[in-house]
Amino acid sequence: MTDEIFAFDNSYARLPERLFARVSPAPAPTPHLLQINRPLAEQLALDPERLASREGLEVLSGIRIATGSEPIAMAYAGHQFGNWVPQLGDGRALLLGEVIDRDGRRRDIQLKGSGRTPFSRMGDGKAPLGPVLREFIVSEAMAALGIPTTRSLAAVATGEPVVRETIQTGAVLTRVAASHVRIGTFQYFYDRNDVEALSALADHVIERHYPEAATAEVPALALLEAVMARQADLVALWMGIGFIHGVMNTDNMTISGETIDYGPCAFMDTFRKDQVFSSIDLGGRYAYGNQPQVAHWNLGQFAQALLPLLPGTKTSAVELAQATIDRFPDLFGKAWLGMMRRKLGFSNAAESDADLITALLSTMEANDADFTLTFRRLSNLGALNIGDEPQVGDLFKDPAAFESWSERWQARLEEDPMAPAERQAAMRLANPMFIPRNHLVEDALKAAEEGDLGPFERLCRVLARPFDEQPDEAELALPPRPGQTVVQTFCGT
Ligand code: AMP
Ligand code: MG
Repeated sequence: MTDEIFAFDNSYARLPERLFARVSPAPAPTPHLLQINRPLAEQLALDPERLASREGLEVLSGIRIATGSEPIAMAYAGHQFGNWVPQLGDGRALLLGEVIDRDGRRRDIQLKGSGRTPFSRMGDGKAPLGPVLREFIVSEAMAALGIPTTRSLAAVATGEPVVRETIQTGAVLTRVAASHVRIGTFQYFYDRNDVEALSALADHVIERHYPEAATAEVPALALLEAVMARQADLVALWMGIGFIHGVMNTDNMTISGETIDYGPCAFMDTFRKDQVFSSIDLGGRYAYGNQPQVAHWNLGQFAQALLPLLPGTKTSAVELAQATIDRFPDLFGKAWLGMMRRKLGFSNAAESDADLITALLSTMEANDADFTLTFRRLSNLGALNIGDEPQVGDLFKDPAAFESWSERWQARLEEDPMAPAERQAAMRLANPMFIPRNHLVEDALKAAEEGDLGPFERLCRVLARPFDEQPDEAELALPPRPGQTVVQTFCGT
Protein backbone atom coordinates (compact mmCIF):
# COMPACT_ATOMS: atom_id res chain seq x y z
CA MET A 1 0.00 0.00 0.00
CA THR A 2 1.01 3.56 -0.52
CA ASP A 3 -0.31 6.78 0.92
CA GLU A 4 -0.04 8.56 -2.42
CA ILE A 5 -3.15 9.63 -4.30
CA PHE A 6 -2.13 7.44 -7.27
CA ALA A 7 0.19 4.41 -6.92
CA PHE A 8 1.95 5.17 -10.19
CA ASP A 9 4.20 2.72 -11.99
CA ASN A 10 5.32 4.19 -15.30
CA SER A 11 6.36 1.54 -17.79
CA TYR A 12 6.05 3.79 -20.84
CA ALA A 13 8.38 6.37 -19.32
CA ARG A 14 11.01 3.62 -18.99
CA LEU A 15 11.03 3.03 -22.76
CA PRO A 16 13.65 4.78 -24.96
CA GLU A 17 13.43 8.56 -24.48
CA ARG A 18 12.60 9.25 -28.14
CA LEU A 19 9.16 7.69 -27.72
CA PHE A 20 8.00 10.72 -25.74
CA ALA A 21 8.85 14.13 -24.32
CA ARG A 22 8.94 14.91 -20.61
CA VAL A 23 6.66 17.88 -19.96
CA SER A 24 4.91 19.34 -16.93
CA PRO A 25 1.24 20.25 -17.12
CA ALA A 26 0.27 23.93 -17.18
CA PRO A 27 -1.30 24.80 -13.81
CA ALA A 28 -4.94 25.87 -14.04
CA PRO A 29 -5.38 29.32 -12.46
CA THR A 30 -8.62 28.72 -10.53
CA PRO A 31 -9.79 25.15 -11.01
CA HIS A 32 -13.01 23.67 -9.83
CA LEU A 33 -14.32 20.18 -10.01
CA LEU A 34 -17.12 19.46 -12.48
CA GLN A 35 -17.40 15.71 -12.21
CA ILE A 36 -15.67 12.74 -10.61
CA ASN A 37 -16.46 9.24 -11.84
CA ARG A 38 -16.64 7.46 -8.49
CA PRO A 39 -17.30 3.89 -9.71
CA LEU A 40 -14.33 4.19 -12.08
CA ALA A 41 -12.15 5.65 -9.31
CA GLU A 42 -12.97 2.63 -7.17
CA GLN A 43 -12.25 0.24 -10.05
CA LEU A 44 -8.86 1.93 -10.35
CA ALA A 45 -8.22 1.34 -6.63
CA LEU A 46 -8.29 5.11 -6.00
CA ASP A 47 -10.03 6.90 -3.16
CA PRO A 48 -12.89 8.94 -4.71
CA GLU A 49 -13.04 11.26 -1.68
CA ARG A 50 -9.38 12.07 -1.96
CA LEU A 51 -9.72 12.61 -5.70
CA ALA A 52 -12.53 15.08 -5.02
CA SER A 53 -10.50 16.90 -2.32
CA ARG A 54 -8.41 20.02 -2.89
CA GLU A 55 -5.32 17.80 -3.29
CA GLY A 56 -7.09 15.74 -5.95
CA LEU A 57 -8.31 18.84 -7.75
CA GLU A 58 -4.75 20.19 -7.85
CA VAL A 59 -3.51 16.98 -9.46
CA LEU A 60 -6.38 16.85 -11.95
CA SER A 61 -5.83 20.46 -13.00
CA GLY A 62 -2.05 20.43 -13.41
CA ILE A 63 -1.26 22.50 -10.31
CA ARG A 64 0.41 19.66 -8.47
CA ILE A 65 2.43 16.80 -9.91
CA ALA A 66 1.43 13.80 -7.82
CA THR A 67 4.22 11.85 -6.17
CA GLY A 68 5.29 9.06 -8.52
CA SER A 69 3.97 10.79 -11.62
CA GLU A 70 6.39 11.25 -14.54
CA PRO A 71 4.37 13.33 -16.99
CA ILE A 72 5.12 12.64 -20.64
CA ALA A 73 3.67 13.60 -24.01
CA MET A 74 3.71 10.59 -26.34
CA ALA A 75 5.08 10.85 -29.88
CA TYR A 76 3.00 9.59 -32.76
CA ALA A 77 2.25 10.21 -36.42
CA GLY A 78 -0.67 9.17 -38.56
CA HIS A 79 -2.78 9.29 -41.65
CA GLN A 80 -5.44 11.97 -41.29
CA PHE A 81 -8.20 11.49 -43.87
CA GLY A 82 -5.75 9.37 -45.82
CA ASN A 83 -3.00 11.99 -45.82
CA TRP A 84 0.31 11.16 -44.18
CA VAL A 85 1.29 13.46 -41.28
CA PRO A 86 4.75 12.51 -40.00
CA GLN A 87 4.48 14.34 -36.70
CA LEU A 88 1.43 14.47 -34.46
CA GLY A 89 1.84 13.43 -30.83
CA ASP A 90 0.15 14.50 -27.61
CA GLY A 91 -0.31 18.18 -28.34
CA ARG A 92 -2.79 18.86 -25.55
CA ALA A 93 -2.50 15.72 -23.45
CA LEU A 94 -0.06 14.37 -20.88
CA LEU A 95 0.28 10.89 -19.53
CA LEU A 96 0.63 11.32 -15.78
CA GLY A 97 1.46 7.68 -15.23
CA GLU A 98 0.01 4.19 -14.98
CA VAL A 99 -1.87 2.51 -12.16
CA ILE A 100 -2.88 -1.10 -11.60
CA ASP A 101 -6.63 -1.48 -11.15
CA ARG A 102 -8.64 -3.78 -8.90
CA ASP A 103 -8.43 -6.55 -11.50
CA GLY A 104 -4.68 -6.23 -11.84
CA ARG A 105 -4.90 -4.41 -15.18
CA ARG A 106 -2.52 -1.58 -16.02
CA ARG A 107 -4.31 1.67 -16.84
CA ASP A 108 -2.98 4.99 -18.18
CA ILE A 109 -4.04 8.16 -16.39
CA GLN A 110 -3.89 11.07 -18.81
CA LEU A 111 -4.77 14.75 -18.57
CA LYS A 112 -6.30 16.19 -21.73
CA GLY A 113 -6.32 19.97 -22.09
CA SER A 114 -3.34 20.52 -19.77
CA GLY A 115 -1.30 22.87 -21.94
CA ARG A 116 1.33 22.92 -24.63
CA THR A 117 3.90 20.20 -25.36
CA PRO A 118 6.65 19.86 -27.98
CA PHE A 119 3.93 18.22 -30.17
CA SER A 120 1.45 21.10 -29.99
CA ARG A 121 2.39 22.61 -33.37
CA MET A 122 0.11 25.67 -33.71
CA GLY A 123 -2.31 24.57 -30.98
CA ASP A 124 -2.66 26.02 -27.49
CA GLY A 125 -2.76 22.65 -25.72
CA LYS A 126 -6.05 23.58 -24.09
CA ALA A 127 -9.53 22.10 -24.26
CA PRO A 128 -12.87 23.89 -24.06
CA LEU A 129 -15.58 22.72 -21.67
CA GLY A 130 -17.94 21.45 -24.40
CA PRO A 131 -15.65 18.81 -25.94
CA VAL A 132 -14.47 17.71 -22.48
CA LEU A 133 -18.00 17.06 -21.25
CA ARG A 134 -18.93 15.51 -24.58
CA GLU A 135 -16.12 12.98 -24.26
CA PHE A 136 -17.18 12.35 -20.66
CA ILE A 137 -20.78 11.62 -21.63
CA VAL A 138 -20.10 9.54 -24.72
CA SER A 139 -17.11 7.51 -23.49
CA GLU A 140 -18.95 6.57 -20.29
CA ALA A 141 -22.07 5.71 -22.29
CA MET A 142 -19.97 3.46 -24.53
CA ALA A 143 -18.53 1.70 -21.48
CA ALA A 144 -22.03 1.10 -20.10
CA LEU A 145 -23.07 -0.22 -23.52
CA GLY A 146 -20.31 -2.81 -23.20
CA ILE A 147 -18.06 -1.31 -25.87
CA PRO A 148 -14.30 -1.23 -25.27
CA THR A 149 -13.36 2.41 -24.78
CA THR A 150 -11.13 4.87 -23.03
CA ARG A 151 -12.86 6.11 -19.89
CA SER A 152 -13.41 9.47 -18.21
CA LEU A 153 -12.33 9.74 -14.59
CA ALA A 154 -12.83 13.45 -14.01
CA ALA A 155 -13.60 16.79 -15.57
CA VAL A 156 -12.43 20.08 -14.10
CA ALA A 157 -12.92 23.66 -15.22
CA THR A 158 -9.63 25.56 -15.26
CA GLY A 159 -10.91 29.06 -14.66
CA GLU A 160 -9.10 30.12 -17.81
CA PRO A 161 -10.85 31.16 -21.03
CA VAL A 162 -10.04 29.19 -24.18
CA VAL A 163 -10.23 31.07 -27.43
CA ARG A 164 -11.84 29.24 -30.35
CA GLU A 165 -14.43 30.76 -32.69
CA THR A 166 -15.88 32.15 -29.50
CA ILE A 167 -14.35 32.49 -26.03
CA GLN A 168 -15.11 29.37 -24.03
CA THR A 169 -14.53 28.00 -20.57
CA GLY A 170 -11.32 25.97 -20.34
CA ALA A 171 -11.46 22.45 -18.95
CA VAL A 172 -9.33 19.36 -18.42
CA LEU A 173 -10.49 15.79 -18.83
CA THR A 174 -8.78 12.94 -17.00
CA ARG A 175 -8.80 10.08 -19.46
CA VAL A 176 -8.15 6.46 -18.55
CA ALA A 177 -7.02 3.91 -21.13
CA ALA A 178 -5.59 0.39 -21.34
CA SER A 179 -2.84 2.33 -23.10
CA HIS A 180 -2.62 5.28 -25.45
CA VAL A 181 -0.51 3.47 -28.06
CA ARG A 182 -2.02 3.96 -31.50
CA ILE A 183 -1.37 2.65 -34.99
CA GLY A 184 0.18 6.08 -35.51
CA THR A 185 2.69 5.43 -32.72
CA PHE A 186 4.11 2.53 -34.75
CA GLN A 187 3.97 4.58 -37.94
CA TYR A 188 6.05 7.34 -36.31
CA PHE A 189 9.03 5.02 -35.82
CA TYR A 190 8.56 3.09 -39.07
CA ASP A 191 8.67 6.39 -40.94
CA ARG A 192 11.94 7.27 -39.18
CA ASN A 193 13.51 3.86 -39.90
CA ASP A 194 13.94 3.49 -36.15
CA VAL A 195 13.72 -0.29 -35.87
CA GLU A 196 15.06 -0.26 -32.32
CA ALA A 197 12.23 1.97 -31.09
CA LEU A 198 9.70 0.01 -33.15
CA SER A 199 10.89 -3.19 -31.57
CA ALA A 200 10.77 -1.75 -28.04
CA LEU A 201 7.25 -0.49 -28.72
CA ALA A 202 6.11 -3.88 -30.04
CA ASP A 203 7.56 -5.65 -26.99
CA HIS A 204 5.80 -3.15 -24.74
CA VAL A 205 2.35 -3.60 -26.27
CA ILE A 206 2.72 -7.36 -26.52
CA GLU A 207 3.56 -7.62 -22.84
CA ARG A 208 0.80 -5.21 -21.95
CA HIS A 209 -2.09 -6.23 -24.23
CA TYR A 210 -1.28 -9.50 -25.97
CA PRO A 211 1.10 -11.54 -23.77
CA GLU A 212 0.25 -14.72 -25.70
CA ALA A 213 1.89 -13.18 -28.80
CA ALA A 214 5.27 -13.16 -27.01
CA THR A 215 5.67 -16.92 -27.43
CA ALA A 216 4.33 -17.07 -31.00
CA GLU A 217 6.70 -18.09 -33.78
CA VAL A 218 6.64 -14.52 -35.11
CA PRO A 219 5.51 -12.22 -32.27
CA ALA A 220 5.00 -9.18 -34.54
CA LEU A 221 2.70 -11.21 -36.79
CA ALA A 222 0.77 -12.54 -33.80
CA LEU A 223 0.46 -8.92 -32.65
CA LEU A 224 -0.97 -7.89 -36.02
CA GLU A 225 -3.46 -10.77 -35.94
CA ALA A 226 -4.53 -9.96 -32.39
CA VAL A 227 -5.02 -6.25 -33.09
CA MET A 228 -6.97 -7.13 -36.21
CA ALA A 229 -9.29 -9.41 -34.26
CA ARG A 230 -9.91 -6.76 -31.59
CA GLN A 231 -10.61 -4.07 -34.16
CA ALA A 232 -12.99 -6.35 -36.08
CA ASP A 233 -14.94 -6.94 -32.86
CA LEU A 234 -14.83 -3.26 -31.93
CA VAL A 235 -16.11 -1.90 -35.24
CA ALA A 236 -18.83 -4.58 -35.32
CA LEU A 237 -19.96 -3.35 -31.89
CA TRP A 238 -20.00 0.24 -33.16
CA MET A 239 -22.15 -0.81 -36.11
CA GLY A 240 -24.54 -2.52 -33.72
CA ILE A 241 -25.37 0.66 -31.82
CA GLY A 242 -25.37 3.09 -34.75
CA PHE A 243 -22.13 4.72 -33.65
CA ILE A 244 -20.18 6.83 -36.11
CA HIS A 245 -16.66 7.54 -34.88
CA GLY A 246 -16.23 10.38 -37.34
CA VAL A 247 -12.44 10.66 -37.37
CA MET A 248 -10.95 7.20 -37.85
CA ASN A 249 -7.46 8.47 -38.61
CA THR A 250 -4.67 6.01 -37.86
CA ASP A 251 -3.68 8.10 -34.83
CA ASN A 252 -7.19 7.57 -33.47
CA MET A 253 -7.10 3.78 -33.57
CA THR A 254 -5.66 2.09 -30.51
CA ILE A 255 -3.55 -1.04 -30.38
CA SER A 256 -5.54 -2.20 -27.34
CA GLY A 257 -8.82 -2.20 -29.29
CA GLU A 258 -10.43 0.54 -27.23
CA THR A 259 -12.45 3.30 -28.88
CA ILE A 260 -10.50 6.57 -28.61
CA ASP A 261 -11.15 10.20 -29.60
CA TYR A 262 -14.68 11.45 -29.13
CA GLY A 263 -14.23 14.66 -31.16
CA PRO A 264 -16.90 14.59 -33.89
CA CYS A 265 -18.48 11.20 -33.09
CA ALA A 266 -22.25 10.77 -33.14
CA PHE A 267 -25.00 8.20 -32.84
CA MET A 268 -27.51 7.88 -35.66
CA ASP A 269 -31.17 8.49 -35.02
CA THR A 270 -32.72 7.59 -38.40
CA PHE A 271 -30.85 4.74 -40.05
CA ARG A 272 -28.74 5.79 -43.03
CA LYS A 273 -25.89 3.62 -44.21
CA ASP A 274 -23.97 6.63 -45.53
CA GLN A 275 -24.67 8.88 -42.52
CA VAL A 276 -21.94 11.44 -41.73
CA PHE A 277 -22.10 14.06 -38.99
CA SER A 278 -18.60 15.49 -38.82
CA SER A 279 -18.31 18.96 -40.31
CA ILE A 280 -14.80 18.21 -41.57
CA ASP A 281 -15.60 14.86 -43.24
CA LEU A 282 -16.55 16.40 -46.55
CA GLY A 283 -16.06 13.29 -48.68
CA GLY A 284 -17.86 10.99 -46.26
CA ARG A 285 -14.69 8.92 -45.79
CA TYR A 286 -15.77 8.04 -42.25
CA ALA A 287 -19.49 7.50 -42.94
CA TYR A 288 -21.26 4.84 -40.84
CA GLY A 289 -21.17 2.18 -43.55
CA ASN A 290 -17.52 2.83 -44.45
CA GLN A 291 -16.16 2.11 -40.98
CA PRO A 292 -15.25 -1.56 -41.62
CA GLN A 293 -13.34 -0.67 -44.81
CA VAL A 294 -11.56 2.18 -43.05
CA ALA A 295 -10.54 -0.13 -40.20
CA HIS A 296 -9.16 -2.51 -42.81
CA TRP A 297 -7.21 0.29 -44.48
CA ASN A 298 -5.84 1.48 -41.13
CA LEU A 299 -4.75 -2.05 -40.22
CA GLY A 300 -2.94 -2.17 -43.55
CA GLN A 301 -0.94 0.84 -42.34
CA PHE A 302 -0.24 -0.97 -39.09
CA ALA A 303 0.94 -4.05 -41.02
CA GLN A 304 3.27 -1.87 -43.04
CA ALA A 305 4.74 -0.32 -39.91
CA LEU A 306 5.46 -3.81 -38.57
CA LEU A 307 7.34 -4.95 -41.70
CA PRO A 308 10.81 -4.39 -40.21
CA LEU A 309 9.89 -6.80 -37.41
CA LEU A 310 8.84 -9.61 -39.73
CA PRO A 311 11.34 -12.31 -40.77
CA GLY A 312 12.74 -13.04 -44.22
CA THR A 313 13.31 -10.71 -47.13
CA LYS A 314 11.39 -7.51 -47.67
CA THR A 315 9.28 -9.31 -50.29
CA SER A 316 8.44 -12.26 -48.09
CA ALA A 317 7.60 -9.94 -45.19
CA VAL A 318 5.21 -7.98 -47.40
CA GLU A 319 3.57 -11.20 -48.59
CA LEU A 320 3.12 -12.41 -45.03
CA ALA A 321 1.64 -9.10 -43.90
CA GLN A 322 -0.63 -8.87 -46.91
CA ALA A 323 -1.96 -12.40 -46.49
CA THR A 324 -2.77 -11.59 -42.86
CA ILE A 325 -4.48 -8.28 -43.61
CA ASP A 326 -6.53 -9.88 -46.40
CA ARG A 327 -8.33 -11.89 -43.73
CA PHE A 328 -9.88 -8.78 -42.15
CA PRO A 329 -13.11 -8.63 -44.21
CA ASP A 330 -13.90 -12.21 -43.27
CA LEU A 331 -13.05 -11.59 -39.61
CA PHE A 332 -15.22 -8.51 -39.57
CA GLY A 333 -18.06 -10.25 -41.39
CA LYS A 334 -18.15 -12.96 -38.74
CA ALA A 335 -18.07 -10.44 -35.89
CA TRP A 336 -20.83 -8.41 -37.52
CA LEU A 337 -23.06 -11.42 -38.11
CA GLY A 338 -22.59 -12.58 -34.53
CA MET A 339 -23.46 -9.10 -33.25
CA MET A 340 -26.58 -8.84 -35.46
CA ARG A 341 -27.73 -12.33 -34.47
CA ARG A 342 -27.62 -11.29 -30.84
CA LYS A 343 -29.64 -8.17 -31.63
CA LEU A 344 -32.29 -10.16 -33.47
CA GLY A 345 -32.56 -12.85 -30.80
CA PHE A 346 -30.98 -15.76 -32.66
CA SER A 347 -29.11 -18.23 -30.50
CA ASN A 348 -27.93 -20.33 -33.44
CA ALA A 349 -26.90 -19.67 -37.01
CA ALA A 350 -29.08 -20.14 -40.08
CA GLU A 351 -27.93 -19.87 -43.68
CA SER A 352 -30.51 -17.16 -44.40
CA ASP A 353 -29.51 -14.85 -41.50
CA ALA A 354 -27.35 -12.47 -43.50
CA ASP A 355 -30.18 -11.93 -46.01
CA LEU A 356 -32.74 -11.40 -43.29
CA ILE A 357 -30.56 -8.83 -41.54
CA THR A 358 -29.77 -6.96 -44.75
CA ALA A 359 -33.49 -6.92 -45.59
CA LEU A 360 -34.31 -5.36 -42.22
CA LEU A 361 -31.64 -2.68 -42.63
CA SER A 362 -32.79 -1.73 -46.13
CA THR A 363 -36.41 -1.61 -45.00
CA MET A 364 -35.37 0.63 -42.09
CA GLU A 365 -33.44 2.90 -44.41
CA ALA A 366 -36.24 3.14 -46.99
CA ASN A 367 -38.70 3.97 -44.20
CA ASP A 368 -36.68 6.47 -42.12
CA ALA A 369 -36.82 4.15 -39.10
CA ASP A 370 -35.02 5.09 -35.90
CA PHE A 371 -32.08 2.69 -35.49
CA THR A 372 -32.09 2.32 -31.71
CA LEU A 373 -35.84 2.19 -31.16
CA THR A 374 -36.42 -0.30 -33.97
CA PHE A 375 -34.16 -2.87 -32.32
CA ARG A 376 -35.36 -2.06 -28.82
CA ARG A 377 -38.99 -2.55 -29.80
CA LEU A 378 -38.09 -5.75 -31.62
CA SER A 379 -36.93 -7.04 -28.22
CA ASN A 380 -40.52 -6.67 -27.03
CA LEU A 381 -41.77 -8.73 -29.98
CA GLY A 382 -39.09 -11.35 -29.36
CA ALA A 383 -41.34 -12.99 -26.76
CA LEU A 384 -44.46 -12.79 -28.93
CA ASN A 385 -46.36 -11.08 -26.11
CA ILE A 386 -47.60 -8.08 -28.04
CA GLY A 387 -49.61 -6.10 -25.55
CA ASP A 388 -49.81 -2.34 -25.31
CA GLU A 389 -46.08 -2.03 -26.04
CA PRO A 390 -45.19 0.67 -28.57
CA GLN A 391 -45.28 -0.97 -31.98
CA VAL A 392 -42.21 -1.40 -34.13
CA GLY A 393 -44.16 -0.71 -37.31
CA ASP A 394 -45.00 2.80 -36.08
CA LEU A 395 -41.34 3.68 -36.56
CA PHE A 396 -41.61 2.95 -40.29
CA LYS A 397 -43.11 5.35 -42.85
CA ASP A 398 -44.89 2.32 -44.25
CA PRO A 399 -45.71 0.00 -41.33
CA ALA A 400 -46.68 -2.76 -43.78
CA ALA A 401 -43.08 -2.89 -45.00
CA PHE A 402 -42.01 -3.75 -41.49
CA GLU A 403 -44.82 -6.28 -41.05
CA SER A 404 -43.83 -8.27 -44.11
CA TRP A 405 -40.21 -8.42 -42.90
CA SER A 406 -41.44 -9.34 -39.44
CA GLU A 407 -43.24 -12.41 -40.74
CA ARG A 408 -39.96 -13.77 -42.06
CA TRP A 409 -38.30 -12.96 -38.75
CA GLN A 410 -41.02 -14.67 -36.71
CA ALA A 411 -40.67 -17.77 -38.91
CA ARG A 412 -36.93 -17.74 -38.23
CA LEU A 413 -37.52 -17.43 -34.47
CA GLU A 414 -39.72 -20.50 -34.53
CA GLU A 415 -36.74 -22.48 -35.80
CA ASP A 416 -34.59 -21.18 -32.94
CA PRO A 417 -34.18 -23.30 -29.80
CA MET A 418 -34.09 -20.34 -27.37
CA ALA A 419 -37.21 -20.01 -25.21
CA PRO A 420 -39.18 -16.78 -25.83
CA ALA A 421 -38.73 -15.34 -22.34
CA GLU A 422 -35.03 -16.01 -22.41
CA ARG A 423 -34.80 -14.49 -25.88
CA GLN A 424 -36.56 -11.35 -24.76
CA ALA A 425 -34.16 -10.91 -21.85
CA ALA A 426 -31.16 -11.53 -24.12
CA MET A 427 -32.45 -9.09 -26.73
CA ARG A 428 -32.97 -6.39 -24.14
CA LEU A 429 -29.32 -6.74 -23.21
CA ALA A 430 -28.26 -6.47 -26.86
CA ASN A 431 -30.51 -3.55 -27.80
CA PRO A 432 -30.18 -0.44 -25.65
CA MET A 433 -33.10 1.79 -24.75
CA PHE A 434 -30.86 4.83 -24.23
CA ILE A 435 -27.98 6.15 -26.32
CA PRO A 436 -26.34 9.58 -26.18
CA ARG A 437 -28.54 11.10 -28.85
CA ASN A 438 -26.99 14.15 -30.44
CA HIS A 439 -29.73 16.57 -29.48
CA LEU A 440 -29.53 15.50 -25.83
CA VAL A 441 -25.76 15.84 -25.78
CA GLU A 442 -25.96 19.29 -27.38
CA ASP A 443 -28.61 20.43 -24.90
CA ALA A 444 -26.55 19.18 -21.95
CA LEU A 445 -23.41 20.94 -23.20
CA LYS A 446 -25.26 24.17 -23.85
CA ALA A 447 -26.69 24.17 -20.33
CA ALA A 448 -23.23 23.38 -18.88
CA GLU A 449 -21.69 26.30 -20.76
CA GLU A 450 -24.34 28.48 -19.12
CA GLY A 451 -23.37 27.11 -15.71
CA ASP A 452 -26.08 24.47 -15.26
CA LEU A 453 -24.63 20.96 -14.94
CA GLY A 454 -28.07 19.43 -14.23
CA PRO A 455 -28.82 18.11 -17.75
CA PHE A 456 -25.23 16.76 -18.05
CA GLU A 457 -25.55 14.88 -14.77
CA ARG A 458 -28.99 13.56 -15.65
CA LEU A 459 -27.79 12.29 -19.03
CA CYS A 460 -24.76 10.59 -17.44
CA ARG A 461 -27.01 8.96 -14.84
CA VAL A 462 -29.49 7.59 -17.39
CA LEU A 463 -26.77 6.46 -19.80
CA ALA A 464 -25.05 4.50 -17.04
CA ARG A 465 -27.95 1.97 -17.36
CA PRO A 466 -28.70 1.99 -21.10
CA PHE A 467 -30.49 -1.36 -21.14
CA ASP A 468 -32.89 -0.59 -18.27
CA GLU A 469 -36.34 0.79 -19.04
CA GLN A 470 -36.18 3.74 -16.55
CA PRO A 471 -39.82 4.78 -17.18
CA ASP A 472 -39.33 8.19 -15.50
CA GLU A 473 -36.70 9.05 -18.09
CA ALA A 474 -38.56 7.68 -21.13
CA GLU A 475 -38.33 11.01 -22.97
CA LEU A 476 -34.54 10.60 -23.18
CA ALA A 477 -35.09 7.47 -25.29
CA LEU A 478 -36.99 9.37 -27.97
CA PRO A 479 -35.58 10.50 -31.32
CA PRO A 480 -35.32 14.26 -31.82
CA ARG A 481 -38.45 16.15 -32.79
CA PRO A 482 -38.09 17.88 -36.19
CA GLY A 483 -36.66 21.11 -34.75
CA GLN A 484 -34.22 19.25 -32.47
CA THR A 485 -32.30 17.28 -35.08
CA VAL A 486 -28.54 17.84 -35.04
CA VAL A 487 -27.17 17.63 -38.56
CA GLN A 488 -23.50 18.31 -37.94
CA THR A 489 -20.91 17.77 -35.21
CA PHE A 490 -17.67 19.69 -34.73
CA CYS A 491 -14.33 18.60 -33.30
CA GLY A 492 -14.18 21.77 -31.27
CA THR A 493 -10.60 21.07 -30.27
P1 AMP B 1 -7.28 14.92 -32.94
O1 AMP B 1 -7.96 15.61 -34.05
O2 AMP B 1 -7.92 15.16 -31.62
O3 AMP B 1 -7.06 13.46 -33.19
O4 AMP B 1 -5.83 15.57 -32.83
C1 AMP B 1 -4.90 15.55 -33.88
C2 AMP B 1 -3.60 16.17 -33.44
O5 AMP B 1 -3.78 17.55 -33.12
C3 AMP B 1 -2.98 15.55 -32.21
O6 AMP B 1 -1.59 15.55 -32.37
C4 AMP B 1 -3.40 16.47 -31.10
O7 AMP B 1 -2.55 16.43 -30.00
C5 AMP B 1 -3.33 17.82 -31.81
N1 AMP B 1 -4.20 18.83 -31.17
C6 AMP B 1 -5.54 18.88 -31.23
N2 AMP B 1 -6.00 19.95 -30.54
C7 AMP B 1 -4.93 20.59 -30.05
C8 AMP B 1 -4.73 21.77 -29.26
N3 AMP B 1 -5.75 22.49 -28.82
N4 AMP B 1 -3.47 22.11 -28.96
C9 AMP B 1 -2.42 21.40 -29.40
N5 AMP B 1 -2.53 20.29 -30.14
C10 AMP B 1 -3.76 19.89 -30.47
MG1 MG C 1 -6.85 12.07 -31.66
